[in-house]
Amino acid sequence: MSLCSEVLILNKYFLAVKVGIAKDAICALYTGKASVIDETYTIRNLNEWIKYSSLIDNLPLEAAKYVGKISSPSISIYIPRVIKIDTTAGIEIIKTVKYSRYNIYKRDGNKCQYCGTKCKNNIRTLDHVHPKSKGGKSTWENVVTSCKYCNGKKGSQTLDTLGWQLKKQPVAPEWKSHIGTPFDKVQNEYWKNFL
Ligand SMILES: [Zn+2]
Repeated sequence: MSLCSEVLILNKYFLAVKVGIAKDAICALYTGKASVIDETYTIRNLNEWIKYSSLIDNLPLEAAKYVGKISSPSISIYIPRVIKIDTTAGIEIIKTVKYSRYNIYKRDGNKCQYCGTKCKNNIRTLDHVHPKSKGGKSTWENVVTSCKYCNGKKGSQTLDTLGWQLKKQPVAPEWKSHIGTPFDKVQNEYWKNFL
């Protein structure tokens, strides 16, 4: 989903500091805490980015550099690939990793936390470790990536009943774990200009 696509975040000194998600990057842009920066190092604030977005609608090669557009009745913009935080306050709003299906898969490296299988989309699902029917919550600590096979087998049983163990204890990821990812491993050609 494009609102979950990754956006490289530069600090005000143009240093790459984080990988964030598009939704938060756009939020920072809307609130004037960040600007979009393209591979020619041109910086555009929200209004300039709106204008530029309508311009590249007619330039398929330029438009293809972006993962998609978001549109509201009043505004239509391309999802930025790189943003630059303009204030120190700006960094705060992208500090936490949002609880989402996508981010749980990402945290678990797409691996089933019961059998360890690397899950392709067609067998990948989420599972409540402590079953939902027994009061298990939808939180970072209780939801893990599971293959459909283990998910089906587990049903509403607990791990104790089954004698199963988790591959690793599920926790909420911190941003530092993203910073710890060497940027040269990031599979994004577009970012290379900034790293
Ligand atoms: Zn499994």
